[in-house]
Amino acid sequence: MKKVILSLAFVASVLIGCQTNEQNPNENEVTENTSAQKAEKQCFTVEVLEEKLSKNPSLKGNMEAVENFTNDYLSKVKSGEIAGRLVNGKIQIPVVFHVIYRQASENVPLSVLQDQIAALNEDFNMQNPNRGAMPAEFAGVEANVNIDFAIEDVIRVQNKKKRRWSPDDSMKFTSKGGSDVVNPQEFLNIWIVNYMPYQTGQILGYAQFPGGDWSTDGVVLAYRFVGRTQRTASHEVGHWMNLRHIWGDGGCGASDFVADTPDADGPSRGCPSYPTVECGSANMTMNFMDYSDDSCMYMFTQGQKARMDAVFAPGGFRATMAD
Ligand SMILES: [Zn+2]
Repeated sequence: MKKVILSLAFVASVLIGCQTNEQNPNENEVTENTSAQKAEKQCFTVEVLEEKLSKNPSLKGNMEAVENFTNDYLSKVKSGEIAGRLVNGKIQIPVVFHVIYRQASENVPLSVLQDQIAALNEDFNMQNPNRGAMPAEFAGVEANVNIDFAIEDVIRVQNKKKRRWSPDDSMKFTSKGGSDVVNPQEFLNIWIVNYMPYQTGQILGYAQFPGGDWSTDGVVLAYRFVGRTQRTASHEVGHWMNLRHIWGDGGCGASDFVADTPDADGPSRGCPSYPTVECGSANMTMNFMDYSDDSCMYMFTQGQKARMDAVFAPGGFRATMAD
């Protein structure tokens, strides 16, 4: 989305929730992750944003500071004053999983967590198996983000009372039946919960952007959307690294603050054929920050990589993680 409009809403967007409209979900049912492929994904950014802002008036300024730093960093890289953050090597991100479960079937085994890490490593290192389908139009802007993930620790908490969770960060606190964040300036914390209903569907996951409170910093996933073929984590980690939805959470003209992602009128659904034209250009429906089916999203762009780099650059919000 080329038209950059730095609105208050975007700057202050705190949490992104991704919802699926599965009908009659049964939280007690043990199912495979294939439901994520068929579900219609949605987000409720604005509702969560409003709630966060009402509770934390300083958040707007904190997120503006991140944006100002990002813009300054990008302009310095463009002018050649500084080199790109990831030019000379990888960043290694240690991940702490908090598996919060009620019954054994929700207690995601280590093998599946390892599968999830493998999927993240594929997606952030330009090794997604589906990228062979890349349209020539987008091949030139595809980016190897050059970030590796590895399991640092797995914390398991059985909460026999909790059949469902709200996207209110309660799972991030031991005092609320969840699990406290672990050293968020060094580790990516990922909480996995059993079920997050929302209206008629359920939430797949949500992330906190750079600039939020450290005590709630990280990503939340519902357990059914964790694993080798899942892309919810890649999408949410993208948010955690300061990426916006590719359609800019608005219609044509709304910006994701990235120049090499074409303008789109809204999120994609299913597995769109190429070209799907909106706003005068073909949509990049295969971008991880869209809402296409997991098997149909397989790329980040150079512009998105540059925004992620800024987060880890000296002085950036997550600079301590890249030391
Ligand atoms: Zn999202």
